[in-house]
Amino acid sequence: MSDANNQLFEIPGTPLVPVKGETASYPVHRVFCVGRNYAAHAAEMGHEVDRQTPFYFTKPASATVLSGAKIAYPPSTSNYHFEMELVVAIGAPAFKVSVEDAPAAIYGYATGLDMTRRDLQLIAREKGRPWDLGKAFEQSAIIAEITKAKEFGEVGPQRISLKVGEDTRQDALLSDLVWKIPELISHLSGFYHLLPGDLIYTGTPAGVGPVLAGENIVGEIEGLAPVLLDILDAE
Ligand code: MN
Repeated sequence: MSDANNQLFEIPGTPLVPVKGETASYPVHRVFCVGRNYAAHAAEMGHEVDRQTPFYFTKPASATVLSGAKIAYPPSTSNYHFEMELVVAIGAPAFKVSVEDAPAAIYGYATGLDMTRRDLQLIAREKGRPWDLGKAFEQSAIIAEITKAKEFGEVGPQRISLKVGEDTRQDALLSDLVWKIPELISHLSGFYHLLPGDLIYTGTPAGVGPVLAGENIVGEIEGLAPVLLDILDAE
């Protein structure tokens, strides 16, 4: 029998996200991401929003990076994009929950960036291949401090925006979300036993675009800590 405490080698530990007003941090279990959840963004990507059903992709928890990081321009891309998003942090188990019961599973909210190798994502999309090379790569899930749901209040007409340097690139309202947060949790909980530690990146508004080495990103949602990211030269 193997000894679970006697590992052959060490691997990176669970990412930990700070929580406003708490000394303890929020450990990341899984990262779910919603595609095309703002109509104007779906249109700029050449699609309409599918109102029949939301769709998802995932990133490894190890892709999590805290706001304020300076990260290298990623390998094997020449079209590295920002996507500013509201992130939902799950705080209670949820499996096959109704829309009405879904809010009880929410621990809090954070600002986040779904960083994307757009060139690789689009090649995959055209060829009907998985999106992993475009989406699920190292250091691709940026997240800022979590604010508890009770403190944030209802998700409604809060502004969601992103600047590269001084240039505003994304500017919308959370009320523009096509699939609302309880709908997403309810739907996703039909496929997974959602657990505390699960993050849901809820999709990006219109205005996605490239970011270059030497540039810095500031993403904001009213009522939450901003998400900051500096892009360094490629390794
Ligand atoms: Mn996204």
